[in-house]
Amino acid sequence: MKHISILGSAGSIGKQTIDVALSHPDKFKVVALASYNEVDMLEKQAQELGPAAVSLSVPDAAKALQARLAKNRKTEDINVFSGSEGLMKIATCSNADTVVTAVVGSVGLLPTLEAIRHGKNVAVANKETLVCAGEIVMREVKRHGVTLMPIDSEHSAIFQCLNGEKREHLKRIIITCSGGPFRTADKETMENATKEEALNHPTWKMGGKITIDSATLMNKGLEVIEAHWLYDVPYDQIDVVIHPQSIIHSMVEFHDGSVMGQIGVHDMRVPIQYALSYPERFRSGDYAFLDLVKVGRFDFFPPDMEKFPCLRLAYGAGRLGGTMPAVMNAANEVAVVEFFLKGRCKFGDIAKTVEKTMYMHKLIEKPSLEDILKSDEWAREHARSILSVVEIDGNWDNIQ
Ligand code: MG
Repeated sequence: MKHISILGSAGSIGKQTIDVALSHPDKFKVVALASYNEVDMLEKQAQELGPAAVSLSVPDAAKALQARLAKNRKTEDINVFSGSEGLMKIATCSNADTVVTAVVGSVGLLPTLEAIRHGKNVAVANKETLVCAGEIVMREVKRHGVTLMPIDSEHSAIFQCLNGEKREHLKRIIITCSGGPFRTADKETMENATKEEALNHPTWKMGGKITIDSATLMNKGLEVIEAHWLYDVPYDQIDVVIHPQSIIHSMVEFHDGSVMGQIGVHDMRVPIQYALSYPERFRSGDYAFLDLVKVGRFDFFPPDMEKFPCLRLAYGAGRLGGTMPAVMNAANEVAVVEFFLKGRCKFGDIAKTVEKTMYMHKLIEKPSLEDILKSDEWAREHARSILSVVEIDGNWDNIQ
């Protein structure tokens, strides 16, 4: 029996993790939940799962949740926490042996590190943890002898393809990418694309931030950086190929020319369950089974780095290393969450903001955790000031 704590339980991955846990009640028990401010959802989840503790980051929301849980005999004993300390409490909850980190953004970094330091196995869906501090996180994983399992479909696929193989036989990793909603759009259309157009992902149903990142291909860039840290592979040996069907979740190529891929439906419950069941494979419901004839064909195209500058920028940030990936990520997060998703900037402004912010950053090559957090904060401020000017000014001519 695995005892699971979920950071980000009201999000897309969090809810699907709960689905997986409930479909195997003899194997999984959810013991702690944390989210941002979703009082109704957390109340429902608390009633359904009976965790030992819950937390909401927004203090007023946590108070409201506590009042509701106290009224019900079934939930009155549940501990309710709040703020970033609350998130930390859920990450280090003594009842849990496994922590699923599915919060959005670099806010996931510190609680994931704390979970590792408390000897928890972690299943990571939060990309920013490895993107911002891959070196530090992987060092802590080794030091504390815990396992870090990827939840992302691509990294789950790579993990499965490398399973039982010798690392020295690996030639390269090939990360597949659906191409997002703008795969066939021209650059001009993309530049001015609306939120609705960008949110219309062709294959995966996901949260808002990651759906926009999938439209800019920043999501793929973040995955390249994660793969570098997870599998200790240099960037020259990590390629991206556009595969619109999203059925091959990624591949590895060996020195003898053999290519192994992991194939399956595009449903996140499959990689979530694998991350929690490994090294076992538990039975899945009907949703998990693929009709290959219905898929019909697999197409592959090279990614267009001109049309999707975010992918190029991510390779650049990864190769520069140090604080640069954290800076790239922070600028992107501000541009997507605070501006584009609120209708305050154009789709094309996202990549421009990331590039300008990276350009102005003074790289720290061997950063401490504190350096990374400071650079993240600097990049947010910088990206905000750029986009605030562009929002008023309507153009980029005055941006250095
Ligand atoms: Mg992915």
